[in-house]
Amino acid sequence: MKHVNIIIIGGGLAGLIAAHQLSKNGKEVLLIEKKTYPFHRVCGEYISNEVKEFLNKEELYPDEIGPSQITKFLLTSIKGNEAKMALDLGGFGISRYAYDYFLYQKAEAIGVKFLLQSQVEEVEYESNENKFVLKINKGNSFTADHVIGAFGKRSKVDKSMNRSFMQQRSQFIGVKYHIKTDFDPQTIALHNFEGGYCGIIQVENGISNLCYLGSKEQLRHYGNIPEMEKAVLQKNPHLKNLFQNSEFIFEKPEVINEINFSPKKPVENRILMVGDAAGLITPLCGNGMAIAIHTGKLAADAILQNKDRTSIEKQYTSQWGHLFKNRLWIGRKVQWLFGSKAISEFSVGLIKNSNFAATQIMKRTHGEMF
Ligand SMILES: Cc1cc2nc3c(=O)[nH]c(=O)nc-3n(C[C@H](O)[C@H](O)[C@H](O)COP(=O)(O)OP(=O)(O)OC[C@H]3O[C@@H](n4cnc5c(N)ncnc54)[C@H](O)[C@@H]3O)c2cc1C
Repeated sequence: MKHVNIIIIGGGLAGLIAAHQLSKNGKEVLLIEKKTYPFHRVCGEYISNEVKEFLNKEELYPDEIGPSQITKFLLTSIKGNEAKMALDLGGFGISRYAYDYFLYQKAEAIGVKFLLQSQVEEVEYESNENKFVLKINKGNSFTADHVIGAFGKRSKVDKSMNRSFMQQRSQFIGVKYHIKTDFDPQTIALHNFEGGYCGIIQVENGISNLCYLGSKEQLRHYGNIPEMEKAVLQKNPHLKNLFQNSEFIFEKPEVINEINFSPKKPVENRILMVGDAAGLITPLCGNGMAIAIHTGKLAADAILQNKDRTSIEKQYTSQWGHLFKNRLWIGRKVQWLFGSKAISEFSVGLIKNSNFAATQIMKRTHGEMF
């Protein structure tokens, strides 16, 4: 059994950032990822600017890919009424296909070792030996001094740990397309439809991301995605226009289910959980990726700045609670303003009539620059 100082399970933004920071500071890091780069993920691909300063400082901001710069917000109700406002902080648009691959190359260049197309099946902390034992799907095993859980919203590891949210079924599905369409490159739009909402922003190379959170029940009712989109999403005239007058680049959309927004713990079985593995913020906040990047950094800092396991866990748990717990809670509450006729009209009215209140709500869903 090979021993490694730090193993990171999962190579999304959270895992890649943690790996980069640890390796940069001289630690031995192995990142185990079940897929291989580059690959598409279901994601709205809008990253809040709160991470920009940190990314610039670490030379991880993807300037050469040419992300779009997003400064405006457009919200439409199910009937198609619209309201616009400036974003207080703003963000940038970049595909996960390009950005995760970019970070993977940066991490590899700084010394991170990768085990790709390999899935961690079980992780045990052996208290008498003060180390972790990890079982991988291909039959091999590793031991490690530290493990960072960066395996996203739902993983085989969650199942093996019997984490409490795994008992709950989720009513949501997530669907993503890349399209070519005529859309303002500085705007992020959120279009309501019965049971969900659909975001659109431009990413790199003049391509736009169209991604929605929909209802599993509606998919079951209409039998397939195109029928559901026609019957439900396209009732909103803005979405009808997008679906009917855009060039769809993927042959089939990327689709996920089991999207669960229940609270989770930032440290479980002595594993430091980062990104969605510690809690998924509702997508309408456009903040999950920023949280993934920030938590990846904080977990790396905790390991770098403390000698013993208890102090590492204490620092990370306290910072996670302070910075993210409320934002995730507010995200769950704000989601209530979407996906039904009356309430979507109310949300559009809120922006039109009380820009101040809308800005205050928006501010609470994202954090400060770090
Ligand atoms: C519909 C939808 C739209 C969204 N839109 C936005 C948006 O516009 N802006 C935003 O900021 N956030 C958005 N989010 C949230 C954002 O996508 C996530 O918060 C972010 O991807 C979390 O990053 P992560 O690194 O924690 O996890 P992920 O990016 O999910 O990465 C986890 C990785 O772990 C790997 N993995 C899992 N299990 C194992 C295992 N056992 N062994 C090895 N590898 C494993 C997976 O293959 C994956 O690569 C959206 C989410 C949804 C559902």
